Amino acid sequence: MTGARPNRGSSPIRRLVLLETLASEVCGTDVHLQHGRLSGVPYPIIPGHVSVGRVRETRGLVRDVEGAQILPGEVVTFLDVHRTCGRCWYCLVAKASTRCPERRVYGITYSAAEGLLGGWSERIVLLPGVQIIKLPPSLPPEVFMAGGCGLPTALHAVQRGEVTFGDTVVVQGAGPVGLCAVVLAQLQGASQVIVVGGPPARLAMARALGADLTIDIGDHGPEERLRLVREATNGRGADVTIEAAGVPAAVVEGLHFTRDAGTLVVVGQYTDNGAATINPHLEINRPHLRVLGCWGSDFSHLYRSIRVLARHAERFSWRAMISGRYPLAEAGAALAAAERQESIKSLILPNGPLG
Ligand SMILES: [Zn+2]
Ligand SMILES: [Zn+2]
Repeated sequence: MTGARPNRGSSPIRRLVLLETLASEVCGTDVHLQHGRLSGVPYPIIPGHVSVGRVRETRGLVRDVEGAQILPGEVVTFLDVHRTCGRCWYCLVAKASTRCPERRVYGITYSAAEGLLGGWSERIVLLPGVQIIKLPPSLPPEVFMAGGCGLPTALHAVQRGEVTFGDTVVVQGAGPVGLCAVVLAQLQGASQVIVVGGPPARLAMARALGADLTIDIGDHGPEERLRLVREATNGRGADVTIEAAGVPAAVVEGLHFTRDAGTLVVVGQYTDNGAATINPHLEINRPHLRVLGCWGSDFSHLYRSIRVLARHAERFSWRAMISGRYPLAEAGAALAAAERQESIKSLILPNGPLG
């Protein structure tokens, strides 16, 4: 074999990008992953699905969706979802690529044995086909990470709910997805945003981001919560309700928060937390509701998130959502804080503080 070079023929170069990780994050999904609550995860894994990094090296010509070359030194992020096939029934006929069975996700469905394919790592390898986006100069990495994976998820939910000018929107849950939905609903034209959730620090954040009314689930029982929502909406309820709470009973409550002929988007039930009982006649059919599931996000949601953040980075207090910054060695403490809901968004900084 000495001196023999394998004949690659006309096979294309495997285009790769090596990132120096600037920041990754902890989200609710990581807590679920820690407890084994997602099916089909090839443990051990490197967690961290949404991340930002500086390009250290590229192999082959790698371009972004605008056609611009990705170059060493640039600060970029990437869609954590990879290998959406574009050939299957869900991709081609249903046009629902987040249900593509081929899709893999950095930090979730790749095993550590397959490489540096998660953000809780000093380096991340971007495999061929990973969609890379350069962060615009007006968008500091920390502001991007404050939205983190919650922003494209919330953008998908707000789009799916077709929030429009003058709408009243109820957001259930004040975690990162709920808080991002508060901002995006306003940008989409909502004239009233009500948040039902907790704890108090997260609700204060919701108000700082523009929520008109917050209802603390720690202070008010279900009947009281419904009364307060109805009172604030001329007795009708919300035009659009976005459930980002995660508790099955919240979906039933969301049906009641929604006005007749309104829309409920269920985006918070990312893991199987069990069943909830509904009365289909009283709670869906007669009130003429539109009830929509919302699973994952695609490239358009990340791309649009970045455009929105870059435009409104200064207008909303995104950075205040970051409640902790942890080196890799303290990732366990970051997970524990997320589980106790003490934090809103914790960053993992594998290469030290952000400049
Ligand atoms: Zn597919
Ligand atoms: Zn996440």
